[in-house]
Amino acid sequence: MSDHAAHVERLVRDIADFPKPGIVFKDITPLLADHEGFRSVVLALAAAGRDADGTTTVSKVVGMEARGFIFAAPVALELGVGFVPVRKAGKLPGETHEVSYSLEYGEEVLEVHRDAIAPGERVLLVDDVLATGGTVAATRALVEQCGGEVAGVAVLMELSFLPGRDQLGGAPLTALHTV
Ligand code: AMP
Repeated sequence: MSDHAAHVERLVRDIADFPKPGIVFKDITPLLADHEGFRSVVLALAAAGRDADGTTTVSKVVGMEARGFIFAAPVALELGVGFVPVRKAGKLPGETHEVSYSLEYGEEVLEVHRDAIAPGERVLLVDDVLATGGTVAATRALVEQCGGEVAGVAVLMELSFLPGRDQLGGAPLTALHTV
């Protein structure tokens, strides 16, 4: 197993029945508190934004509120490109595109600033966990409303018993660890 996958396995802990009964929550806080582990996963996620020669192939890294921000921002710095936050409704002050999508219970709305991604830009989406894929699908729709293209999706963890992989719209997935 690679170093980063071993770090994810050892330092992301399962919390049963959070935030509601039946959910096993993947708690990343022990990983964030470990400098070596945090650094190693940021470098591994950043590799999803480079080609085989090590050249950066995206011009923005998009992180989804809230835990996606923690990884996407250092990945953007590592790749030498800008960071774009996708936020929950009502948080972004400028003109936004918005997408609503269904959660297990109820609806969620995500927004991005209209001018955050230029037409034709290739972006990398970064989040902590890929579960049903609803968040990635909604974020992809926002990127496409700006005229951008999702060149890849990078997550710490893929929950392979859920169909998240089917929601990527053909973009390649980098998952540092699969459970
Ligand atoms: P989904 O839209 O179903 O793919 O869910 C992904 C989003 O919900 C990510 O932003 C995760 O942070 C969060 N999430 C979903 N399931 C879990 C889980 N079991 N543990 C931690 N976070 C989760």
